[in-house]
Amino acid sequence: MNGMSADARERRPEAGRPSSPDSPSSGLADLHLHTHFSDGTYSPEELAGCAAEHGLSAVALTDHDTVEGCARMAAACAGRGIEFIPATELTSEYQDHELHILGYFLDDTHERLLRELARYQQVRQDRIRKIVARLNELGVPLDAEVVFKIANCQAPGRPHVGRALVQEGYCESLDEAFKRWLKKDRPAWVPKFRVTAADAIQLIHEAGGLAVLAHPGLNRADEVIPALVEAGLDGIECFHSRHSTAMAMHYLQVADRHGLVATGGSDCHGMNKGQPLIGTVKLPYLHVEQLKERRAKRLAASH
Ligand SMILES: [Zn+2]
Ligand SMILES: [Zn+2]
Repeated sequence: MNGMSADARERRPEAGRPSSPDSPSSGLADLHLHTHFSDGTYSPEELAGCAAEHGLSAVALTDHDTVEGCARMAAACAGRGIEFIPATELTSEYQDHELHILGYFLDDTHERLLRELARYQQVRQDRIRKIVARLNELGVPLDAEVVFKIANCQAPGRPHVGRALVQEGYCESLDEAFKRWLKKDRPAWVPKFRVTAADAIQLIHEAGGLAVLAHPGLNRADEVIPALVEAGLDGIECFHSRHSTAMAMHYLQVADRHGLVATGGSDCHGMNKGQPLIGTVKLPYLHVEQLKERRAKRLAASH
């Protein structure tokens, strides 16, 4: 479970500043979604179907350390008249803080981006082998190949190990797998390799994208925000399914103070982490327009 009550969800729908009457487009967006190309359970087609059911007019796919699902998601969205924004979510660090940096409007064919993502994916696969080796030492004879088969993607993560443990009968639920073995400081936990936040931001810019700090409320990241702004950060994810209303308001102020775009998304992983979260955050389209304006300025400045 993600630990959020239905009540908490009701408090934060359709948050944000109202669309201005002369804005060219209206509608609602979700800019933080995962598919089975990382640790989500939906296919791009299923996810686009859910987006349509929830009345979303624009979505971004932000799978961890990959843009592999973007082409299929673009096609699935086009078929349903939904605007699609290619994106990714990079795991990075700044002075021991784990920070997730979202990259929006990326060129998902950019050569160096793809090369770097392939390197991050290799590190993820090595980490899975290390976690499985720890489990083996602990007397759990799981085979890494079972995890890779379940993951069936280039960017496997701990939820896939958890699903393999459940499937092979070593525990009852994903929750139990994390509590017994996989959570930080549990016996099969292995530290993650992380690029520096500045390198992640630079890579995103190089691939034509905008860099946005994901769910800062979950990472206690306030004190690092000025350094990220210095490194070129473009936005902050103010609205998130696990941000309280007070947190959203706080980060709107932080975004304003630093001249950053405020964004938002559900961080839906399909059925992987409790109930699907798509539909719990509906971002007014105005924020997408602000991202586009920021991108136009960046592109103009780089020419
Ligand atoms: Zn994240
Ligand atoms: Zn995410």
